[in-house]
Amino acid sequence: MTAWVGLTGGIGSGKSTAARLFAQHGVPLIDADAVSRALTANGGAALPAIRAAFGEAAFDFSGSLKRDALRQLVFQSPEAKAKLESILHPLILAEIRAQQQQFPQAVYGIIEIPLLAEQPVFQSILQRILVIDCSEETQIRRTIERSGLTRDMINGILAAQASRQQRRSIADDLISNEAGLPELAAAMERQHLIYQQLFGS
Ligand code: ADP
Repeated sequence: MTAWVGLTGGIGSGKSTAARLFAQHGVPLIDADAVSRALTANGGAALPAIRAAFGEAAFDFSGSLKRDALRQLVFQSPEAKAKLESILHPLILAEIRAQQQQFPQAVYGIIEIPLLAEQPVFQSILQRILVIDCSEETQIRRTIERSGLTRDMINGILAAQASRQQRRSIADDLISNEAGLPELAAAMERQHLIYQQLFGS
């Protein structure tokens, strides 16, 4: 039985970088965000249920989901958020479970789940949770450098996400990503060895 570690962290914490570092060690990697995007892309399996729940207004003239408008709607309306999640979460879980079956020989694998602290339903498919942690100031600086978003926009995203403390509270393992990339690579290598020992026996 392959063990599965949920990898999470706030925006700009370095979780995608950490996930790539695990993959470089040959660890299977599943990306929950990519699964979600595929389900809601043109022709995606979630679209019929989203159309039934939110109507044609959620789609543009070409039949594509209006992601920004829907994101705005669920940001403002807890009912809309609950409705969308009740459609997406079972489909995301089913697809992740299908992807998990593709790695029967692996000792362990990583599932990158950005909103794991906000959406505890995903904890049901995990044996362990790894949180990539750094200060909000570092998150903001890295996100500005990477994305060109303004400090105000990033503060808005941080306010909508789980707090650093909430995320830390779900961690079985916590990696600080305050130093540079070589330090993160070294920390991931140590963590990989720990997981191989932990799940290999
Ligand atoms: P997340 O997936 O958590 O949003 P990323 O892994 O995409 O974060 O990292 C955000 C940005 O910060 C990227 O440009 C990445 O290269 C950079 N980064 C991540 N960790 C470090 C680090 N330890 N030192 C310097 N830059 C980093």
